[in-house]
Amino acid sequence: MKALFYDGEPKLLPDYPSPKPLLGEALIRLSLAGICNTDLEIAKGYMGFQGVLGHEFVGIVEAAEEEGWLGKRVVGEINCYCGECPLCRRGLFTHCPERTTLGIWGRDGAFAEYLTLPLANLHLVPEEIPDEDAVFVEPLAAALEILEQIEVKPKDKVLVLGDGKLGLLVAQVLALQGCDLLAVGRHAHKLEILKRLGIATHIGEGSWERSFDIVVDCTGTPEGFVQALDLLCPRGTLVLKSTYHGEAEVDLSRLVVDQVTLVGSRCGPFIPALELLRKGQVDVASLISATLSLDEGVRAFQLARKRETLKVLLRP
Ligand SMILES: [Zn+2]
Ligand SMILES: [Zn+2]
Repeated sequence: MKALFYDGEPKLLPDYPSPKPLLGEALIRLSLAGICNTDLEIAKGYMGFQGVLGHEFVGIVEAAEEEGWLGKRVVGEINCYCGECPLCRRGLFTHCPERTTLGIWGRDGAFAEYLTLPLANLHLVPEEIPDEDAVFVEPLAAALEILEQIEVKPKDKVLVLGDGKLGLLVAQVLALQGCDLLAVGRHAHKLEILKRLGIATHIGEGSWERSFDIVVDCTGTPEGFVQALDLLCPRGTLVLKSTYHGEAEVDLSRLVVDQVTLVGSRCGPFIPALELLRKGQVDVASLISATLSLDEGVRAFQLARKRETLKVLLRP
């Protein structure tokens, strides 16, 4: 099968062996996949991953022991866990120390004609949701994870820093909470997507001082941490959504003195993400910059790296 493989640089392999599903796993034929910032960071060395890239996908189950799954259109949670360790027994599956993560850690990913995942990770996609929306379930779930972790009240002043793919999803999810929300970024055409939804936006630096109760860093850069801290009011909550190759430099005493609550946040719940898409409560279609064939995977990565680009999709 064709696969977009990484071992120092992304390359298209025309004859990569098709994956064989293990016990309890499904073989999934890819319909559509999305390039995420994490993929771009992996291609810079993040996680030291080697293998087939990609973790955002929608596809059709082609083989599974449980016949009910055959032919079903699915999305899949990306962390594959052991189910037996102390953390799994506490329900902390995404933290299982034995886990593999689709296209990120120890498991080939979704930028290929076929992929495998445990049936336990799969979710049926309701008919009303087209592939072009369903491919956003994973990042939308990551945005929703914030609400699993902290309470966002209507009176809260909330700032989303960064107008990349994830920042735009996070802002839309938080806007549904009815909070006093501002999204700050660097690109008029990206912030325009939020503006159309009635969300307040700002381009570039601003003079807000330290007035926000909650700041969500979606910049995807080490600098975002400090920028976010500069805007957070004392006793505020700083949510970190960015993962990147490299380290942030930060004076931790500031967190102590200002009594900041720091929340690291990544993978989130798929079911509410599917529900938001089914009800049309978030606009993901506007985030699609281009759809390329898997054959053009290397070019798709180059395109995804450009600052003006939002989501690049891959079709087999
Ligand atoms: Zn992702
Ligand atoms: Zn485990």
